[in-house]
Amino acid sequence: MSPLTQAPLGHAVLTGVAPFGGPPIDLVVRDGRIAELRPRGSADEPNRFDADGLVLLPAFVDLHTHLREPGGEDAETIATGTAAAAAGGYSDVFAMANCSPVTDSPERIRHVLDLAERTASCRVHAVGAITEGLAGQRLAPLEAMAAAGARLFSDDGRCVDDPVLVREALELTKRTGTVLAQHAQSGPLAGAGQINAGGAAERTGLPPWPATGEETVVARDIVLAADAGAPLHVCHVSTARSVALVRWAKDQGWAVSAEVTPHHLLLTDGEAASADPKFKVNPPLRSQGDVRALRAALLDGTIDAVATDHAPHLAEAKAADWCGAPFGMTGLETALAVVSEVLHTSRGVDWALVADRMSHAPARIGGIAASAGRPIAVGEPATFTLVDPRAGWTVDPADTAGRSHNTPFGGLSFTHRPVATVVAGAVTADRGGLFTRSAR
Ligand SMILES: [Zn+2]
Repeated sequence: MSPLTQAPLGHAVLTGVAPFGGPPIDLVVRDGRIAELRPRGSADEPNRFDADGLVLLPAFVDLHTHLREPGGEDAETIATGTAAAAAGGYSDVFAMANCSPVTDSPERIRHVLDLAERTASCRVHAVGAITEGLAGQRLAPLEAMAAAGARLFSDDGRCVDDPVLVREALELTKRTGTVLAQHAQSGPLAGAGQINAGGAAERTGLPPWPATGEETVVARDIVLAADAGAPLHVCHVSTARSVALVRWAKDQGWAVSAEVTPHHLLLTDGEAASADPKFKVNPPLRSQGDVRALRAALLDGTIDAVATDHAPHLAEAKAADWCGAPFGMTGLETALAVVSEVLHTSRGVDWALVADRMSHAPARIGGIAASAGRPIAVGEPATFTLVDPRAGWTVDPADTAGRSHNTPFGGLSFTHRPVATVVAGAVTADRGGLFTRSAR
């Protein structure tokens, strides 16, 4: 049975939680909802859990997760990927379509949703492919997939290079109230690129991967979406010029949104120049200047959301040499730690900003704001994550709820870590044993 449907908290009091890092209060959960937010220690009653000093945030929403099922179960399943999501503080993930078979029909949308219903530790939203088989030749049945529950469409892993197909897809997403999410990367320009063009490519001798491959598609799609009057979501923005293009589109008032991954916020092509395949990812790690631009854009809202692009791979595959290894990194369990680290300023972490970029904004973009990314308020669903602001932990790749270990952050130390996640009153992750140990 799915952890989402078992072990509801019923009536519970979490004492000493700090909403958005503010003053501590007691949070009362009743029947899946937030029943009270009241002064700390105000009543003695059963089913109290000591959450003293834990930061209370709305549970996170990931617009970009590769769960690998069906077809890639050796690397990840819906059960293991969503267990990693829950451990990372997520209530909702959007499962990318590049499975085997590809999620490119209403039947396959329903298949993913059915599997999730039975095995998932968080809510799963199936992303539909834009083109049949991700082949970039013919549009998949977008309207029928939207009717089956798809809210996002993406060929992620590949770009839809043909502008006529993009234009037709935008007309269909507009008509169905859904969103096209492009993996922006011109096939002809990226070519056989392996590593960011410039110093990293020169030092390693690996085939260069130019930033223009991404930027030209971002520019083209912005224009196509504006012309169609349809929203556009740009996946994993990785360059300063892509940021500038998104900023320009927003200045025009166009419905363009963008996401950035934790790894593009922290790592650079300097790490990639080690030629260790754990740093091999698509789009590639970029320059220090790009990283600075991405951080500034996340702070000022030009980039709306953080998305993990969690991409599990078998250890054997990642153990190949750079060119033989697949692109991708895991990320669900480290996202909060990385994001709070890079957004940390002399005044500490702005937790409201973290909540916006990891919960409210992605819920809005994905069209699930009625049930996810909700405010912390009485009457709202009890869907939240608790973050230990003094965790002081070091990433151990083997210590994961997921099935694969290809994190680029192994051995790095971080300050913050999610310790428990609750979705509509059901405990979906409890790393610290908060809900088993401390009831009194
Ligand atoms: Zn992608």
